[in-house]
Amino acid sequence: MLRYFLVLTLIASSGLAAPRRAKNVILFLGDAGGIPTLHAASLYKHNHPQKLFLQSMPHIGLSDTSSADAWVTDSAAGMSAIVTGQKTNNGVISQSASAIRGKQEGEALQTILEHAEQRGLSTGVLTNMAVTDATPAACYAHSSDRSRAGEIFAQVLKPRFGDGVDVIIGAGRKRVIEATSKMGLDIEAALREKGFAIRDSLSAISEDDRRVVALFDTADFDVSEAVRRAIAILSKNSKGYFLMVEWDMHTDRIRRGLERVIEMDEAIRKTAGMVGPDTLILFTADHSFDLRVRGGRPGQPLLPDDDSEESARKGAIRMDNGHTGEQVLVAAQGPGAERVRGFLANTDIFHIMMAAYGWEKEKKR
Ligand SMILES: [Zn+2]
Repeated sequence: MLRYFLVLTLIASSGLAAPRRAKNVILFLGDAGGIPTLHAASLYKHNHPQKLFLQSMPHIGLSDTSSADAWVTDSAAGMSAIVTGQKTNNGVISQSASAIRGKQEGEALQTILEHAEQRGLSTGVLTNMAVTDATPAACYAHSSDRSRAGEIFAQVLKPRFGDGVDVIIGAGRKRVIEATSKMGLDIEAALREKGFAIRDSLSAISEDDRRVVALFDTADFDVSEAVRRAIAILSKNSKGYFLMVEWDMHTDRIRRGLERVIEMDEAIRKTAGMVGPDTLILFTADHSFDLRVRGGRPGQPLLPDDDSEESARKGAIRMDNGHTGEQVLVAAQGPGAERVRGFLANTDIFHIMMAAYGWEKEKKR
């Protein structure tokens, strides 16, 4: 009887209680996905406010996005703050604020992906921008200038921690090959030597790939399916994983931008339904964008039926093509999500992820 009771107690303490620490962290980054853009996307798709999945996540906060040298950040400084916990100057990739873009190198700042590598977890970046672009680059590379694509991608071959990023899925195939060949690198051969499978389409990625670089010529691929394939590979590591998923939400083309919000929202919903309770899911943006809902009514489409950008601009939306400096949403669920609350700095998101993994005590603020 006592034995039976002990077994029951063990089951209760191991299986049923929600994990207090995250084994895995998935960071969804809507590039330029500010609150006005999320709001417009909900109206566009659902003809109702606050109907996105990410608007139903239980823990939310508001993050300041300013960089070390400007109130309005670019993606380089914005993402560097999120993944290193330190603000830097615009144009700089995960180096300290002593870096000056293209002129002076700063100190390399250890990123959340590198912390995961150091501890033996598997890691991945997934994006519909070029994989050398500022947001993914800030996870796995360090440079005083975001435009140095070759120098940035070559760092995949020389990781500072562990065996470096394991899964890279994204656009910019031509750019990566051109930029690295200018440096005299046969990038595909060098990657194969490091154990990477090279793929050129989403369907070519095999769940048997242990490490993979999948580069596409298009920014339009199925983000939900890409996340599913990345997780299938990363989750084989019993220590856990870190995955960053970036989806471009710039609304310089309004309809396309809003469609992409919907695509990522769907990917977050599907991912939340797929991963276990040991996974922290976060959504945030690196900065907001100058788009506003200035009109429209319930029951009427937000954008005119005609598909052109010109007519989109005549609709209920006003758009001025540029980043803006107001706070962005942070939404979270899973272990450690309760730390997402109130007004945050973009640098707090790094500490929230570190604390969720149990690698750092909660930062007092
Ligand atoms: Zn950005």
